[in-house]
Amino acid sequence: MIRTRFAPSPTGPLHLGHAFSAILAHDMARGEVGAFLLRIEDIDRERSKPAWEALIFEDLAWLGLTWETPVMRQSDRMAAYGSALDTLWARGLLYPCGCNRRDILAAASAPQDGAPLTGPDGIVYPGTCRDRSDRSGPRPGDTALRLDMGLACRSLADAGHGDAAWSDAPLAGFVEEGDGPGHPRGAIAVTAAALEQTIGDVVLARRDMGTSYHLAVVIDDAAQGITHVTRGEDLFDATAIHVILQRLLGLPTPIYHHHRLIRDEAGKRLAKRDDARAISTFRAEGVTPQDIRRGLGLP
Ligand code: GLU
Repeated sequence: MIRTRFAPSPTGPLHLGHAFSAILAHDMARGEVGAFLLRIEDIDRERSKPAWEALIFEDLAWLGLTWETPVMRQSDRMAAYGSALDTLWARGLLYPCGCNRRDILAAASAPQDGAPLTGPDGIVYPGTCRDRSDRSGPRPGDTALRLDMGLACRSLADAGHGDAAWSDAPLAGFVEEGDGPGHPRGAIAVTAAALEQTIGDVVLARRDMGTSYHLAVVIDDAAQGITHVTRGEDLFDATAIHVILQRLLGLPTPIYHHHRLIRDEAGKRLAKRDDARAISTFRAEGVTPQDIRRGLGLP
């Protein structure tokens, strides 16, 4: 049975891009005998507000969507994230990192290295704390924790993927069914070379949150039994991180559907602060849900 989800963060109003994601996921499940689930991604306690969450429910209901209850809320799930971090820590795959943005930029911009590489989370971490942090003892809860991507790739390769570490041979993969431009449909290989060079040691626990988007999304998609993840193509590169975390934690990999981004007339990506395209603004102006669907090219 197909299980899809929409996973908004309650940090601003839903806009047309969110509506597109939500409707695609909803219709995909409803077209089959499937389930459409909702997850409130509120690990950012500073920016998440109950009023935004209430508006999300209102907007989705107005769009004519229905979802399973209870709705999962990430702020209730800290224990699950903590136990995944414990597992990875016990395997020596995480290390504490005290670098701030400025430290990272300075280290990554060392003259001999040329322009710093950027990945899904910004500048690829230059590895400053990798060898100088203590990985023994209990997992520290008061510092950021990074995944040692090289070691993670080698541990997966040792676990049966042959010589896939350090190479372009597939270490893992996922099926892409989306219509986003710029990447092929079908089997997408995740290689150690790409993970190490273009993604690097991502943060899995932020100091202020105790988790991260990447870790939480992987654990929760598995906990909700999601079979198909539908989301914007801006997250395509991040999917490689999610697939590798699924392998490391022994979780299933859903099918991914990265869709095109909805842009404004000037071709700019819509942002949370772009209130002119907020669903609530359209509602107030008397636009109908059918108009929204039509405008998005949906039946
Ligand atoms: N909370 C994320 C967002 O609002 C969810 C993205 C995803 O993993 O589908 O973009």
